[in-house]
Parts: sequence; structure tokens; C-alpha cells
Amino acid sequence: MIITEYNRKTQYLMPVGSALLKQDYIVASADEFFYNFLNVKGECSFLERIHPGDQRDFLDAAERLETEAEYVLVRLATFDNEYRIMMLRLLPDKRVVNGFRYISVVIDDIIASMDKFVVNRVNLTKYRSILSLMDNFFFDYTQVNNHINIYIYSHNKSYLFFSDDFDFWMDEMLTKYIWNENDRKKFQTFCMYMKEGVDNFKVQFSTTFFSRSSRNDLVVIEGSTIFDHLDNRIAVGVIRTEGQLAEQPYYTTEASKDAATGLMNKRAIMEYAAQKLLTEKEGKYFLMVIDIDDFKHINDTYGHLYGDTVILKIAECFKRIVSTRGMVARFGGDEFVILLEKCELEILEFILQTIFNNVKVLFLDEHEELKVTLSAGVAVHPQDGNTYDELFLKADKALYVAKANGKNGYVIYNEDAHGEIEIKNEQHRLTGLKSVASRAKRTGIFSKILLELNANGAKAMKSAMRQICDLFDVNGVKVYGGDEMKCLYHNGRYNLVNERFTLHENEEYSRLLSENDTVIIDNLSHYKETSFAEVFVKNEIASTIHCLYKKDGMVKAVVTFDVFNTSRKWMDEDITSLVALGKLMGQVVS
Ligand code: GH3
Ligand code: MG
Repeated sequence: MIITEYNRKTQYLMPVGSALLKQDYIVASADEFFYNFLNVKGECSFLERIHPGDQRDFLDAAERLETEAEYVLVRLATFDNEYRIMMLRLLPDKRVVNGFRYISVVIDDIIASMDKFVVNRVNLTKYRSILSLMDNFFFDYTQVNNHINIYIYSHNKSYLFFSDDFDFWMDEMLTKYIWNENDRKKFQTFCMYMKEGVDNFKVQFSTTFFSRSSRNDLVVIEGSTIFDHLDNRIAVGVIRTEGQLAEQPYYTTEASKDAATGLMNKRAIMEYAAQKLLTEKEGKYFLMVIDIDDFKHINDTYGHLYGDTVILKIAECFKRIVSTRGMVARFGGDEFVILLEKCELEILEFILQTIFNNVKVLFLDEHEELKVTLSAGVAVHPQDGNTYDELFLKADKALYVAKANGKNGYVIYNEDAHGEIEIKNEQHRLTGLKSVASRAKRTGIFSKILLELNANGAKAMKSAMRQICDLFDVNGVKVYGGDEMKCLYHNGRYNLVNERFTLHENEEYSRLLSENDTVIIDNLSHYKETSFAEVFVKNEIASTIHCLYKKDGMVKAVVTFDVFNTSRKWMDEDITSLVALGKLMGQVVS
């Protein structure tokens, strides 16, 4: 039988039909799909519709039937009397007549199901990415176990905000998070809707729950009841809050996305991984650092623009292969970090092998001779460490070894072999958990830098610059000053460090200056055509914040905070802090 031929003929049919079989496997009753599919009406022998070569299998399965379902694959004569491969699911029925227990049979067109599965998988990704664009909370409540999950979507994944027994949640809400009697009543009505499983519901009340007690939000909960495959009632819906979510984790915000690839950026994966390792300790995690081999050569041969395409395609390939088994991030430049969650060594190796194999052929259609390879270093939780920092350090060492071994391969960290290795000039990579620190802690470090600069002036400059790079995840800081506007201090790997700052003399640049003499650029590629673009290209700066310090209307100093190679959507909170620091640093050197 030619399967494709068969498939084309049946795609307009429902893949599933069911029937009840009585003694001698006669169809006692069936649904419309079953009758249509077999082109029979009323009583008929089901056994006769099965290919003689498969009847024995069917009879064996029927005889084996006790309490569990039995599955059997048979050729079934269908509507045009041609045989098609069908999956039969047999289940014992409650009815017994003349000592024969009736059998319920479900026929499943497995090939149509396979097609449907592929379509569903694409749809799932589609819906996840749509949900990721929304700031709302979503929830589901399963009546049978009285459990509620509340979550948000980001990076095509759901993040649990709350998950517990519904009655416990109800008590918490009523005692801690709803302050107005009228709102309490509305909430109780909502609870009743959930428990009764009403078709559609919509309620509105005020609560501090969704801002974790920081604000009393007006929320609108809207939803409906659906049934799962076992006919259990599940209430699903969306929760909209008025205003922004107060303590939304950074990694779920738009700002956490690398602009070129849509993957998590460095800070996001650090916070995400740290959070995961802290709250979901059980199970194995693998932290991989993956770097494209000889990427500079690709840039030099095919151009920077094609280099960008290579990065994008590789990012998409990682995302596709890792899928929901973990999180993929672009760490910067040609470097990626992948966290595989709750996974076994075989799966890690399988994923890596799949990635390597796929990348090898990814560019054949455009450049037959282009062979892109990767190197990867892997560290394993818990044996290599419990924190993101420890794991990153070790994965990074392993990457270093993979590169030293001749590239195009991966190395899993091994304490005995790699423990002694020291990586030189790579100190900038080993950022501590500072950027993962809580907001309060960040504010603390920020104030400390300000105080030190105030108290010790230029002496505190170097240390301030290092801390700023860590805390705000910027790759470089420069301070220009003096009569010639020379670079007085720098921290980070700049290609050029001795040039003067003359941008403020450029007319196009001056137009970008805000009222408080700052320039904020998320993505410098938008300014490719301008006369000042070259300065940034030379230093591979992709986004930046410039603070000009003026006295008597004259520019006396300039402080720049730079991100290399990856664009950055600056967050308002960071802009405020960096501008304050920039102004103070400018003042210190003037
Ligand atoms: P290695 O095998 O040791 O990794 O060699 P490499 O040439 O890949 O060297 P390395 O990883 O140190 O350098 C990466 C280069 O990638 C540096 C930078 O010029 C370039 N690069 C970084 N980000 C981007 C980007 O977004 N687009 C393009 N086109 N190039 C980038
Ligand atoms: Mg590289």
C-alpha cells in the first residue's frame, strides 16, 4: 500500500471513530465517523472488515482484554473497500450478554494523527510565542484535584507564578491579599464559578496578590471551562492587571531579549539559571557554553552582514533543537549559553550531537564551501556546583579546552583534568552574581559606588568602573576629559583606547543629545548611515549610553557605557543609575 496515496484520500475524514462490539465481534452500535469510515450501516461483522492476515492479532488482543486497554495495528477495509492501516484501541465495556463482555473499539487513523501532531506542534509554538508577547497572567484550575496554576509566558515558555491547592489559595487571598469587603465577595463568586465549572466567567476585583503586596491592582479575570481527554473539567483563563507587574523577573521582560536573535541575553540567562538552581534543585542541569569556531574568519570572508545571518541561523537551530528542554541565550558576540533542565547525560550528548550535525549543513544552500563548526564546554549540576557562577566557570574552562583540542567538539568538565587550568585574559567573563542580585542589593551596590566616588574621587574610578561593568552587564566604560578630551580611564576590551572624544562636535550626533546631555542608543545599526557611525564600528560597539558633563556650557568630560556587538534595550531603571554615575564620574575628572 502506498501510504502517501492513502493519506491524500483520507485527509478529509475524522481520524477517530468508535464502536461497541458484541458477541462474534458484530458492531452493536457506533458513532457517525465509524459508520462513514467503514461505509456500513447498522449491524455488521467488524472481524470481516479486518484483513485476514491481521485477524489473528485482533482476536489475540480481544482475548487478552481485561481491565487495561489493548492496542493492535490492523489493515481495515474502509469506505472504498481498500485496506488502510489503522490503530485499534480495545477497551472492555460494562455490558455482558450471554457471557460475552462487550468491547469498545476506537479506530485511530495513525497517519492522519501523525500529520495532525505536526500541525499541533507548530500551533503550540505559535500560541506560545503569541502568549509570550502578552503581559498577562494565565491560569488553569483542575476540578478533580482542586489545583490551581497561575503563570506568565515569556520566551515561548511558561513560568509558574503560583501553584497550589485551590482552597489554600482562596484562604490566602481572603486573608492577605484582598482588602475590601466588596472585592472579597466578588472573589468568592469567582471561586464558586471555578468549582462549579461554569462555561464562561468574568470578574473584577482589587488585590495585592499579583504585585506581591506592593500595590493594590484592579484585576480582571476572564475564562471558561474546558474538558480534558479524561472528561475532567478544567477552568482556564487570563488575568489582566491594571498597571505593570511590580516584581516581574527581568528574564520575562521584553528588555531581556537579545535584539538580533530574540534569545535571552546574558543577564537574563544568569538570572534565570540562578533562579532555577535555587528553587528547583532536584534533577540534573547542564550548563553549556558554545562558541562559533573561527567566526572572525567568517566575517572576514563573507562580510559582517553575512556573519550576522550565521549567528541568527545558529540561534534558531539551537532554539529548535533544545525546544522546551531548556533555555538558550546569546551571551554576546558568537557565544551562546544553553541551560538544559532536568535532563540526563545521554540526552545532553544527543542534543549536542544533533546541534553539531545540523550546524554542519546549515549553510550549504548559500555557501557550499562554508563549514561552520562549534566548540562547547559543559558543566553539570550538581556535581560541578550548585550555583550559576560555579557552573559557568567550569563550563567556560571546558570550552577553553575544547578550543585548545582543535575546536569542532565538546568537552564535559572534569575536575581532575581541568581543575588546574587557568584561563588568562578572560577575567571579564567571570562576572559574579552581582547582576543577579535582588533589586535591593543592586541599589545597595550602586549607592556604595556613588559614595566611594564622592569620598575618594579619581582614586575610586578604576574600582567603580569594574563594578559598573559587573552590576549593569556593560562590556566597557570609558572616561574622557582634559583639554583635548583624551581617554583618561577605560575598563573593558576596546579595540581603540587612545582616540579623543570629538563626537559632540558632530552635528548629527548632537541632535541625539537629550536635555540632560545624554545620548542613549539601543541599537547602533540604526545609525549606520550617519557620519558618526564609524567611531562605533571601529570599537564594535552596538549599544551605548553617553553622559556629557558640562560646566559653563562647555563639555568638560564624557563618560560612555558600552556594549560590544550585541544591541541592548536599555531599561529605564539602569539608564537612571548609569546617568547618575556618569555625571558624577565626569565631575570627578573635571
Ligand atoms: P575562536 O574559534 O577562538 O572562537 O575564534 P573566533 O574567530 O570565533 O574568535 P572570537 O570568538 O574571539 O571572536 C568572535 C568575533 O565575532 C569577534 C567579533 O568581531 C565578531 N562578532 C561578535 N559579534 C558579532 C555580531 O553580532 N555580528 C558579526 N558579524 N560579528 C560579530
Ligand atoms: Mg568564536
